[in-house]
Amino acid sequence: MMSDTIDVLTTCLCGRSNFTTTIPHSSLPMPGHFCHCTSCRRIHGALSAFHAPWSAPPSSAIEKLAKYKSSERVTQYFCPTCGAHMLDSSPLEGSLEHNWTIATPLVQGAENIFEYKEHIYIEDTKDGGTSDFVRSYNGTPLLRWAGRDGESEQLPPYWDTTKDLRARPEAHDPSGKVKCLCHCGGIEFYLHRPNIKVSPEADFGLPDKWFDVATNRYIVEACGCDSCRLDSGADIMPWIFVPPSRFSLPDGSPLPEDRMFGTMKHYRSSENVSRNFCGWCGATVFYMNDERTEWDLAVGLIDAESGARAEEWLEWNTVVVSYAKLAYNKKMLEAWQHGYKAWEERKHHKGIVSDYE
Ligand SMILES: [Zn+2]
Ligand SMILES: [Zn+2]
Ligand SMILES: [Zn+2]
Repeated sequence: MMSDTIDVLTTCLCGRSNFTTTIPHSSLPMPGHFCHCTSCRRIHGALSAFHAPWSAPPSSAIEKLAKYKSSERVTQYFCPTCGAHMLDSSPLEGSLEHNWTIATPLVQGAENIFEYKEHIYIEDTKDGGTSDFVRSYNGTPLLRWAGRDGESEQLPPYWDTTKDLRARPEAHDPSGKVKCLCHCGGIEFYLHRPNIKVSPEADFGLPDKWFDVATNRYIVEACGCDSCRLDSGADIMPWIFVPPSRFSLPDGSPLPEDRMFGTMKHYRSSENVSRNFCGWCGATVFYMNDERTEWDLAVGLIDAESGARAEEWLEWNTVVVSYAKLAYNKKMLEAWQHGYKAWEERKHHKGIVSDYE
């Protein structure tokens, strides 16, 4: 006879943090959502959190996780070795119980366990963030809450309050810099314009696909690989590829070569790869492959005036999701790729995808 329940494993990148949850078949699929609040962005380093309500994990698992209070009510739990954000909790009003939320991409079999229903806190992004890349999931359009679900207004697709700002000439000043920071502020530094003039190869030995020379912006490539997923807690993780000379500390000095400053911790995720995260709040910060010279920066840390997509600094490569073939949740990949396409078409030929304008 088929069991009424299934046991699902949740695990981080290094595997040291993990626990099993028993779920009744009758509760599947469970509703997932994307949280675009500024806290989730700075805590994950991704543009949103991928979340779902969850039952209380075993206390033996919780004890091993690093804890960070991201607000008066909310506590975040991440793996102290690899930095993967696994859970958050907040006290349930009038009870000793807690509300638990899980980072859905860390749950094994997530594709068949969760059905994503909504975006929340889109207003925090100022430009819509990645809510425009995941317009619908498994064929169903997602709800788009400005703030809390059920308590705020719905924002239309392609809601964006900062279009004009990106067109201003100072938004492309070659001497400009933008602050990057994690949630706790233990990691803070500046990103400078790429300023690649003629041949990127001549400058840094880097492929020019990582810079838009004409607009002096970095090109964002989102990654669908397993190790980015388990490190960041995001199914699709956006990165930019930056020569170390384009970073500075708040006092103007260069970042240390080993990338260890402030509250930074480091995890060697494979023979050639180091991943840096904030040891205090767990934010994903850098990916570094020893065979390359540039450092990959988690886009969610960029504090751009225009909002989460930071379009005065970044050009989104909407053609490619790297390691798409390896993407763990194919429904999520498909949703993202579909949203990319629609967003790009709309940008270049206004009117093709015109839900609200
Ligand atoms: Zn871990
Ligand atoms: Zn949030
Ligand atoms: Zn931090």
